[in-house]
Amino acid sequence: MLNVVIFGAPGSGKGTQSELIIKEFGLDHISTGEVLRNEIRNGTGLGKIADEYISKGLLLPDELIIHVLTGVLDEKRGTKGVVFDGFPRTIPQAKALKKILNERGTDVAVMLNLDVEEDELVRRLLERGRLSGRQDDNPDTIKSRLEVYHNQTAPLIGFYREEGTYHAIRGTGTIDEIFGLIKKKLESLTTDC
Ligand code: AMP
Repeated sequence: MLNVVIFGAPGSGKGTQSELIIKEFGLDHISTGEVLRNEIRNGTGLGKIADEYISKGLLLPDELIIHVLTGVLDEKRGTKGVVFDGFPRTIPQAKALKKILNERGTDVAVMLNLDVEEDELVRRLLERGRLSGRQDDNPDTIKSRLEVYHNQTAPLIGFYREEGTYHAIRGTGTIDEIFGLIKKKLESLTTDC
């Protein structure tokens, strides 16, 4: 299986690039943020809990989001591979993902870190807030999401470096240019195996 962790700060383009990857390589996509936004739209119990965290720019507790991820992953049996978008976001989540995949006879093939400078991230998030009305794309929540990213999520770079699956991608330029870099990396992995 070609399991890809698409990684980066909020606004780095994970969702956009995930869509292109799944089309090109025939993979499945799991965006934990999208799963949670759906739950909120449907007014479920999980949605109500998620809303509390998302509106403050905070991460849901590891145990809860790992449970959600496991359920969604089990709906994708028989897949060629999964693009994990927005998961893992903490070291315990990364360890859990490894365990869950290992139990299913597979692992993360590559972690792609979309590297974008902070000013550009803020610019993109504010723009997305104006266009899509996504509730957490407002100045206060953006600030806390970026802090959370630096404190809780960025340490995953070290984790995946040690795993030997880390790969940095320049996340600025056109969408096609960035996808070109990703495609080259993924093609090198698919020809290796
Ligand atoms: P995203 O769409 O990936 O930017 O996620 C939006 C929000 O959903 C985040 O700011 C968190 O509040 C929550 N969320 C999504 N994925 C996770 C995760 N892996 N762990 C904890 N919270 C998450």
